[in-house]
This record gives sequence, structure tokens and C-alpha cells, in this order.
Amino acid sequence: MTAPAPQEKDTGTNAPKKEAGSTTVPKIGVFICHCGSNIAGVVDCGKVRDAAEKLPGVAVAKENKYTCSDLGQAEIIKAIKENGLERVVVASCSPRLHEPTFRKCIQQAGLNPYLLHMVNIREQCSWVHAHEKEKATEKASDLVRMGVSKAAQLEPLEAREVPVEPTSLVIGGGVAGIQAALDLGNMGFKVDLVETQPSIGGKMAQLDKTFPTGDCAICILAPKMVELSRHPNITLLSYSDVEEVKGYIGSYDVKVRRKARFVHEDKCVGCGLCSDACPVKIDNEFDLGFGQRKAIYIPFPQAVPLKYTLDKEHCLHFKSGKCLLCVKACTNNAIDHTMQDEILNLKVGTIIVATGYETYIPQKKGVYKYWEYDNVITALELERLLNASGPTGGHLIRPSDGKPPKRVAFIQCVGSRNKKIGNNYCSRVCCMYAIKNAQIIMEHDEETKIAVYYNDIRAFGKGFEELYHRIREDYAVEFIRGRPAKLSQDPETKAIKIRAEETLLNKITEREFDLVVLSTGLVPSEGSKKIGKILGLTVSPDGFFMEAHPKLRPVDTAIDGIFLAGCAQSPKDIPDSVAQAKAAASSAAAPMFAKKVWIEPLTAFVDEDLCAGCGLCIDLCPYGAPELVQSEKGGMKAHIIEALCHGCGTCAASCPQKAVAPKQFTDDQIYSELQAALAETPRKHAAKKKVEAEVS
Ligand code: FAD
Ligand code: SF4
Ligand code: SF4
Ligand code: SF4
Repeated sequence: MTAPAPQEKDTGTNAPKKEAGSTTVPKIGVFICHCGSNIAGVVDCGKVRDAAEKLPGVAVAKENKYTCSDLGQAEIIKAIKENGLERVVVASCSPRLHEPTFRKCIQQAGLNPYLLHMVNIREQCSWVHAHEKEKATEKASDLVRMGVSKAAQLEPLEAREVPVEPTSLVIGGGVAGIQAALDLGNMGFKVDLVETQPSIGGKMAQLDKTFPTGDCAICILAPKMVELSRHPNITLLSYSDVEEVKGYIGSYDVKVRRKARFVHEDKCVGCGLCSDACPVKIDNEFDLGFGQRKAIYIPFPQAVPLKYTLDKEHCLHFKSGKCLLCVKACTNNAIDHTMQDEILNLKVGTIIVATGYETYIPQKKGVYKYWEYDNVITALELERLLNASGPTGGHLIRPSDGKPPKRVAFIQCVGSRNKKIGNNYCSRVCCMYAIKNAQIIMEHDEETKIAVYYNDIRAFGKGFEELYHRIREDYAVEFIRGRPAKLSQDPETKAIKIRAEETLLNKITEREFDLVVLSTGLVPSEGSKKIGKILGLTVSPDGFFMEAHPKLRPVDTAIDGIFLAGCAQSPKDIPDSVAQAKAAASSAAAPMFAKKVWIEPLTAFVDEDLCAGCGLCIDLCPYGAPELVQSEKGGMKAHIIEALCHGCGTCAASCPQKAVAPKQFTDDQIYSELQAALAETPRKHAAKKKVEAEVS
């Protein structure tokens, strides 16, 4: 947590210490940062300091080359001590970057850390007015004047300590969720892992071999899956959904629905006798429609837990009340058609969201004819066809006639980097998985001719560029720069003709292939969307979960205690998913080791005398922070649960009684800034005179 530790014992009050709008002006110090030439290259910081010096209450105004440096901070501490400063204004970069730094700095000098105000003269001034130096300087002075006025109104606040339950919930059992759960379990924390599917493993379990090393995906994943299922600190809740999450960091109440498997997990030994007896055959989702499964099934042989699941939708007993062949076959009495969903209530301190991705599905009437031509498949379907434990035993076939394809084309960036047919972003893994799969196909049959239609090849990362070159040079895979414009099918042979503009040759070509593989991009999973709503997580414009800061807090969310791992946050490969999972586990572990966390006091507070108890704030708060409680003064009044409040101000904007306000953003504090913004400065006075003269 970034909140500084309180200076004195928490008083437990829900309101600021003093009434806002005090009339005595405190002693203020103003520190103007050059940020090298980031600010000083545009803003005349000397002029800004001269103007600040003359403002009411300002006892010290100084410039620094880098205020955040040790020297810059030492100067602030010295000025506070020597001049008895009561408030500090730092005019520099965004408070998002250095507010915690300067809060800790003034706290070192004995000031309450919330008596700091930051004025952003970099992002909001020098960077956006780089070609208007004079106006930028005037704007910086205006911003500092507003900041000083606001600082005079600041009230001391105290951070609050809340206890943290040393238990974690991991949502999603792909490689990222598995890794995060194992790391936390190995650190000694109890972990509940909730996976919506009958087995953990996620997409990695569906892959054949993996770039860049060429390891068999399930061979390296399965040991981790088994380790997880046997881990004494981890409870695996597969075939389960998180339905509700309430609470705050340290104390989340989670409701989990355990979907009825119609097979008792404690009795099922995974022998498969039931599945052998079951007469129903339907497409196996795990094989993406290329293989089949029974109505009682495991999705793949290495499934964890190795417990069968009965698919109610296709089971004959549920349809007609007959059959029960599986029940007769099971020697362990494990099957129970009367089984009901169960609700589990969990209490956890932290949550890791690892709900992964789905692959982009090409448009119905799109140019790539995925829905029309059998021999146009997606890359994930290819993974199943190449997989030794897949539906064809690892033999690559063309779906139209089951024959091995001799000419294979890959089309890159399908559903990525193209707003018209999908998304703007690069999916990061499809160049490399196409290269990997081209190599695997050549290893199966070196006579195969392979062409890759691409925009750019993005072979970033350890060993990837080398693999790309090897595939071009040793395997003679042809790389064609150009986006295919049209696909057509020979009605007899079912061969696919690709018409494309080859931009390196500057000509339009038509080439024929037996199989076309679409390198489809990665999109947020439906499960992510569902869990995002339950947890109130924000998403980036691409639809993936948004991290608290893209560079400095890449695994945190905006909600304290909830962390992100793997492709739920953005498309990434397995090594990056694992690395992020480890980072998320460490981040979740920190408050659990400490068993407590400091909560920022910048929350809303209620003036009980004004509150009418109408409950409007309760309806509107996006975080569920206000509640109605019986007041000692009589009647029901709103009260803010501070650990839930994000200080967003929605309640303040909605309250008809003006009874609720976020601390440090009260009406008085905001008006004081506005008054300073509108104050008549010598510059504004001269401009007004000029206009008056022109008019007369
Ligand atoms: P996922 O594997 O998607 O796992 C997410 C899990 O969360 C799933 O089990 C899902 O069922 C579960 N879930 C979703 N929603 C919920 C919910 N609400 N509640 C509970 N559970 C939920 N990377 C490589 O490094 N090498 C390769 O060779 C490679 N090849 C690839 C080939 C293809 C065709 C594709 C598409 C990707 C490839 N990748 C490769 C990328 C790799 O698949 C991902 O990096 C990896 O699977 C990400 O793991 P994850 O755990 O984040 O997500
Ligand atoms: Fe489990 Fe019974 Fe089926 Fe064997 S027959 S896999 S024990 S449900
Ligand atoms: Fe296109 Fe390659 Fe990026 Fe995938 S990784 S979107 S194929 S550039
Ligand atoms: Fe809810 Fe925002 Fe009001 Fe806090 S400030 S109680 S988060 S509406």
C-alpha cells in the first residue's frame, strides 16, 4: 500500500480533523521543479517562483532541478524545519507518479503527509504547450496560485490500518492461475482456486508444442496441474463459478457456486467405465469440434481433477428418464443424477484474477471464409490436429477429405491490427505460433510447401528471432508480405486460392493451397467479462483488464487487494504469463505476510447533521461504500465504509443535502481553487484594459 503510516494513533473518526474553510492562512512552502528540461525547457520557472513568493501565506518559494531527487527532498525537509512550514506545494509532474514520494518526504520533517498538494506543471502544462513558452509560464503561475489556495484549505488526515486474512482466491486455472496459486501455496498461504471448466489447464493444455523451446505443452503443464491438486495449502474448486464478492482488501467475502457434476468427486476414481458405457457421442469442445466425447466425460486424458463430469444437456436420462448405463457401469456408486449445485462461502484477504483469453472468431461473412470452407481453420484448431493426444493422433489432415495437406498457408493478424475485421492491437503470440507450427508441419512432412502471409513479423524475445531465421533458411518456409484480399475454393478439389497484393514484389498474385490456417488474435474471455462485473474491475480500450499503472503497477488493479495475472490483462505468451503470475503472487503475499494494510484516508465523509438518510449515495456508489446506520443523534444516517471508498465523489455529486463530500475535495476546498483561478492578476488586468481600450 502506498498510504503513509499514521503519525499518531487512529482516532477512528470518519470526518476530517478540522472544519474545512478555516480563515487563518497557514505558512506554505512552494517548490517548483525543472524536471531537467522537461518543465524548465518550456516554463520560465524563475518567473513562476517570483509570482508564487508574493501569494498569501507563502513563506518560502524555491526552484529545484529535480525536486524528487534526494537533494530536492532534503531541501523541502530543511525548509519545513527552518521556516515552520505548515503546508507544502510541489509544482512538478503528475501526482500519480510522485505524490507518495513527497508525502513521505514531508512526513520525515514532522508534517502530516496529507498537508501536501501537488500541482502538475509537466503533463498539464510544459508537455502540452511546448511551442507556447510565454503562455505556458503564465499557465504554470495560474496553476501554482490555485494550488497554494487549495493547500491553505488542506486538513491533516490519518491512514487507517485494516487486518488482512492470510488466504487468497485465484480465479482461473490456466497456466497463470496455476502458477500464482502454487507460489502462494508454497509461501504457506491457504489458496482457493476457482476454475469454471471441469479441469484446470486453460488454453496451454490445448496446445501441441510451444515456442521457443519446442517443449510439448501438456508435458510441462501436467506436472504443475498435479502438484496443484495435491498441494496441502490449495483447495481446487473446479467446475465452479464466483458469483459474488463483497468486502475490501484483507477481508473479501466470496460466494462460489459449485456446479453439479452429477459425479461425487470423493468417490470417482477416474476409471472411465461410465464413459465407455455411455451411448451418447457429441463434439468435444476441447478438440474444437474435431473429436468427440461422451455425455459423461473428462475433457482430455490429463485432466485435473481426474473426475468425470456428466453433461446434463446431452445425458439421455435427463432427456427421457431412461438409460442409466453409466450408473450400472460405475463400481464406485459415484454417479448421482439428483446432485444439486452447492454454494460455498469463502473469506479471503486477496484475489488474483487469471481468467485468460479466447481466440478471435472470424466474421460470418468475412473475407477469410472460415464459416464457408472446411479447409480454412484457426490456429488453435491446428494445434489440436497436430497434437499427439488430439483427435487425429497428431496427423495433420485437411478437414474436407482427411488427406494430408501438401500446401499450407498461414494468414497472420486475423482479428488483430485491423479495426475493420477485429481489433487494433497486436496479439503478440501469433507470429511466433505460426513460425512454431510451420516448423512442426515440416518436421511431420518435409515435402510440405508452406507460405506465411504477414504484415510484419514480430519475433521479439529470447530465441524467437533465431527460430524465425531457422524456419526461413533451413525449412524454406516462404514469407509473403501482404494481406490476402480474397479467398475462393475449387468446388471439386476443395483447394483454396488466395488472391493477395504482395507488397514486396508490388504485384497481385493468386496461389493455391490445400489448407489455410488463420492466425487468429487473442480477445478477452467471456469469463473475464463476467468476473470483471462482479469485482468492478476496469478495462482498457482493448477490453482486457486495466492495470493500476502500465509501468509501475503492472499487476495491480485499481482495487486494493485484487491483482492480475496472464492473458486476462493483455495478450502474452506462456513465459510472460508465468512471470506475471509470479509477480501477482508476490504482490498478494506482501499484505498477507504483514497481516495488515494501511488504507488511504482520502475517502468520503458524512455530515450527520445534514444527512436525511435518503440512501441515494448507497444506490449510486460504484464501490458499495456507503451504508445506512442508526445514528446516536437519532434516525438512520449514511456512513462510509472507508476501506471500500475510493473517494471518487459520485456520492457527493448526488447528495441533495450536500451531506457527503470526499476529504480534501470539499466544496470549500474546490471553491478556493476556483477563486484563485479567477482572481485578477496583473496579467489579466492588463489584458482586460487592452480589450476595453480596443472596444472604446
Ligand atoms: P488461459 O490459458 O486462457 O486460462 C484461463 C483460465 O481461466 C481457463 O482455464 C478458463 O476456463 C478460466 N476462466 C475464465 N473465466 C473464468 C471465470 N470467470 N471463473 C473461473 N475460471 C475462469 N504461448 C507460448 O508461450 N508458446 C506457444 O507455443 C504458444 N502457442 C499458442 C498457440 C495458439 C494458437 C494460441 C492461441 C496461443 C498460444 N500461446 C503460446 C499463448 C498461450 O496460450 C497463453 O500465453 C497462455 O495460455 C495464457 O495463460 P492464461 O492462464 O493467462 O490464460
Ligand atoms: Fe468415476 Fe464411476 Fe465413471 Fe469410474 S465409472 S470414472 S468411478 S464415475
Ligand atoms: Fe499480427 Fe504477428 Fe501481432 Fe499476431 S503477433 S497480431 S500475427 S503482428
Ligand atoms: Fe462511493 Fe465514491 Fe462516495 Fe466513496 S466517494 S462513497 S467510492 S461514491
